[in-house]
Amino acid sequence: MKKAVFPGSFDPITLGHVDIIERALPLFDEIILAIGINSEKKYMFSLEERVRFLNESFKDEPQIQVMTYNGLTVDFCKEQEAPFLLRGLRNGTDLDYEKAIAQTNFKLSGVESVFLLNSSGKSHISSSIVRDVIRNGGDYSFMVPNAVKK
Ligand code: ADP
Repeated sequence: MKKAVFPGSFDPITLGHVDIIERALPLFDEIILAIGINSEKKYMFSLEERVRFLNESFKDEPQIQVMTYNGLTVDFCKEQEAPFLLRGLRNGTDLDYEKAIAQTNFKLSGVESVFLLNSSGKSHISSSIVRDVIRNGGDYSFMVPNAVKK
């Protein structure tokens, strides 16, 4: 049984995340969408809202579970008996950042990180840009799944 954890803030989930998740579905039997709880970080959407957006977006997908966790992501992977961590890459900056984390995670735990490139046309989408557009009253509907639009 191939199980992966896709960790993130999902503040909010975007079509960039959806793209990575949908492309990972054929690779794993089960994917846990895991929202890390970080009390030091300020979020635009509450934890409950972020969980609801994920649940609504994937309600018809039995391979996907939504969970929240505290502490180290690799400890959560061990707890869930998930040997893989899934992350998405938009560009070289993402790769540089993710590389150090993935190497540290592997040293810490043996959990293997699997990276997927987004499909073309999705690289410009990020939660932070969505939040900026929302704050300034712009149209963000083309960057998020339906659950976030309501
Ligand atoms: P974090 O705060 O951990 O970076 P995010 O919710 O911002 O959490 O991102 C979670 C994962 O989704 C990361 O691996 C990120 O690179 C990936 N991701 C976000 N947007 C995109 C996108 N447009 N294309 C590909 N991957 C993406």
